[in-house]
Amino acid sequence: MPEFFVAEALDKELDTLPKAKTVPRHEMRTDVLVIGAGPTGLACAIEALKIGLKVIVVDKGCLVNSLFHYPVGMLFFTTPELLEIGDIPFTTAQQKPTREEALEYYRKVTEHYSLDIRQYEWVKTVMGEDGDFAITATDRAGRPHDYRAKKVIVATGYYDLSNKLEIPGEDLPKVSHYYGEPHPYYDTDVMVIGGKNSAAIAALDLWRHGARVTLVYRGSQLHHHVKYWIKPDLENRIKAGEIEAYFNSFVQEIAIDHVVIITPRGPIRLKNDFVLAMVGYHPDYDFLRSMGIELSDEQHRPVCDPVSLESNVRGIYVAGVIVAGSRTNEIFIENGRFHGKQIAADLKIKIKP
Ligand SMILES: Cc1cc2nc3c(=O)[nH]c(=O)nc-3n(C[C@H](O)[C@H](O)[C@H](O)COP(=O)(O)OP(=O)(O)OC[C@H]3O[C@@H](n4cnc5c(N)ncnc54)[C@H](O)[C@@H]3O)c2cc1C
Repeated sequence: MPEFFVAEALDKELDTLPKAKTVPRHEMRTDVLVIGAGPTGLACAIEALKIGLKVIVVDKGCLVNSLFHYPVGMLFFTTPELLEIGDIPFTTAQQKPTREEALEYYRKVTEHYSLDIRQYEWVKTVMGEDGDFAITATDRAGRPHDYRAKKVIVATGYYDLSNKLEIPGEDLPKVSHYYGEPHPYYDTDVMVIGGKNSAAIAALDLWRHGARVTLVYRGSQLHHHVKYWIKPDLENRIKAGEIEAYFNSFVQEIAIDHVVIITPRGPIRLKNDFVLAMVGYHPDYDFLRSMGIELSDEQHRPVCDPVSLESNVRGIYVAGVIVAGSRTNEIFIENGRFHGKQIAADLKIKIKP
């Protein structure tokens, strides 16, 4: 099973290593601790730095971990200047940047500001009160890392937690909720579930690289949010019968060598090797609640001041896509990147360097 998570292989390897001797736990003190080194977390760190505060950024994966897990070679729908942070220009050869160019850009920005980024540390708990929070993260060797911070900014995104189909067979190794690159699917029968951007990108890329692709979507046609240069392309492949598509349909069961779908004309059993369930992602609501942040009923929006983005827990701010709760297409890099300035304006009043 082509699993994209390089880290996992390394984790298994790390597990074989003798456990690190217990080192005395020393706290790292900072003015502001940012949880999440995505584009928004980085923007928040830069703006806090600019007002003279000490900042540490902690990420459970690598720098801009979500972008790293985008499909290889993916083209952004946003033009580069709308992805800029820290007033650092982002220029690209083509009109739109690729995943790789964006990774390079955010690495360069991090270097430019010498940001203190702690990669591969998963923040598990945030305790304490305004002015003195105790934050504990765990690294991949299971070692704890303790931090004390006057203020905390939570910019944990949504891409880590995929929405589940809740059907039999979803846990089979042949099923993934992330698409990396086409090669491992060459000359195999692949089902792509979904009708939005991630599904459309995966279906076309797989077909172009020799996979036999079947798309299954509950909607009557591809979602209207699908990028304008992708939608007609995919629709033409479907019209030409090059990609098989079942609309107004859903997957009932996934088995080792086949999938059963329910279509308007009844159930159909299809030969299958791999399933890509591209059905969306959501923020880690439990993590937000664990630090006392309240979420709105309907859309799980964190309760916060719309100007300062300070949450209902004094001293804890929310930033980036999580501010929109389950409406993950409302905030993206283009607009989430400004949250840093909003929060810094409030920090400037409330915290003296
Ligand atoms: C395929 C695809 C294409 C996209 N194209 C575009 C586009 O063209 N333009 C655009 O503006 N947006 C685009 N987006 C949306 C964009 O990726 C998100 O809006 C953006 O990444 C949100 O930024 P963020 O910093 O809020 O969260 P993220 O980038 O998701 O960063 C959150 C970070 O927090 C870390 N984290 C989470 N929990 C913890 C924890 N407990 N401890 C430590 N670290 C933690 C994660 O590892 C991650 O690095 C696209 C999204 C996808 C999936």
